[in-house]
Amino acid sequence: MNKEKINFTSSCAPGVPYMKNMIFIPANMPGSQMMSNINFIPANLPGVPYMNNSKHKQFKLSWWEENSFYYYPYMLISAFYGIQHKDFRKKFNISDDFIIIGDSGGFQNMTQNANLNKLNVLRWQEENCQIGLTFDEPILGNDSEKIKLKKQINTVKNAYYALDNKKKKDFKLYAVFQGHSLDEQKTIHDAYKEEGDITKFDGFAIGGMVPIAGNTCLITKILLTFIDNVKQYKKPLHFFGISGNKLLPLLIYLQLKLNIPITFDSSSFGGGAIRREFLFENNKLFFGRNKNHNLKEIPCNCPVCKLCLIDDFESKDSKSGGLISLHNLYKIIYNIEKLKSLSTDINLFKDYIKKNYPEKVNMLIDYIDEYFENGLLLANEKFKFKLKINDTKKSTQNKLFDF
Ligand SMILES: [Zn+2]
Repeated sequence: MNKEKINFTSSCAPGVPYMKNMIFIPANMPGSQMMSNINFIPANLPGVPYMNNSKHKQFKLSWWEENSFYYYPYMLISAFYGIQHKDFRKKFNISDDFIIIGDSGGFQNMTQNANLNKLNVLRWQEENCQIGLTFDEPILGNDSEKIKLKKQINTVKNAYYALDNKKKKDFKLYAVFQGHSLDEQKTIHDAYKEEGDITKFDGFAIGGMVPIAGNTCLITKILLTFIDNVKQYKKPLHFFGISGNKLLPLLIYLQLKLNIPITFDSSSFGGGAIRREFLFENNKLFFGRNKNHNLKEIPCNCPVCKLCLIDDFESKDSKSGGLISLHNLYKIIYNIEKLKSLSTDINLFKDYIKKNYPEKVNMLIDYIDEYFENGLLLANEKFKFKLKINDTKKSTQNKLFDF
């Protein structure tokens, strides 16, 4: 922790879009504090021993730049936002070997009534990203069966359109799946097989989980269903919009069992800028308007906090929210790296999960074990009762539980 600059590259294959094991991708957007060219000048410069060795007197919030608080080599950008910046990397000072995954913007296209052109999306992705996710039409829980099917068919057609029109050889294209139930997943998988050669895609991604964020049981079920269909192709997988601390050990355990590279993205660290929400252990501290503490010092020694005074988090300008987001991001990455290291000794890993995570997470670890031993149908049958108890908290989502 005393290194001048924390560099999270130990588990990455440098510059290679195909990544080893489990990689977390922070979802970012132009307009965020991180991309706003903010410079932070620490007020307590002489008093901090850490600073005396630092060659920098001011720090950027952009984790891809040389003079940032720390370096992390990944980012996901939605084409919906990125497409407004043709030469995206140059504009935001992002080096060529920094890995950008380009989401298609399908979600924003639908929710914000935009009119994105799928060829323009593909060209932007090819120019700026190592990996592109195909242009999908996310299905929602309250869509009718007819609409769901139409969206799935369009998602498949768009994916093959991108495959046929792709020009850049080393650009990787992941086909996006949409579907919350066994049947819906089977429908889209069958559509992919009927429409063309599914093995030509470089990877597969599962989307549409943002509306059910926080429902750990349901997300685990959906991920296993997706995996059950695509694991035969032995290609890298991406899980969209995953947030929640409880899911992290499950994702790491899944990857370990599956032995296929998995990436997943989340923008939840951005709660720092939106709500001044500061991740601390298993709690959330709030600064600014919703302050829920009387702290005089920041209870954190991360590369961001060790250069900040508590007043830096209280000020009204956007910089303070950006600093909190960057702290949150560090905590998320650190937690994932810790769990990944622990998972190299499976007994120690399981023991740690037992002691530090709720019973539900441990039950889901058993569910994953059951899946890998006896298959999806038997695992779903055996855990039906336990999974439903946890799932039915939100009655509006009952339709999604028809497994
Ligand atoms: Zn911190």
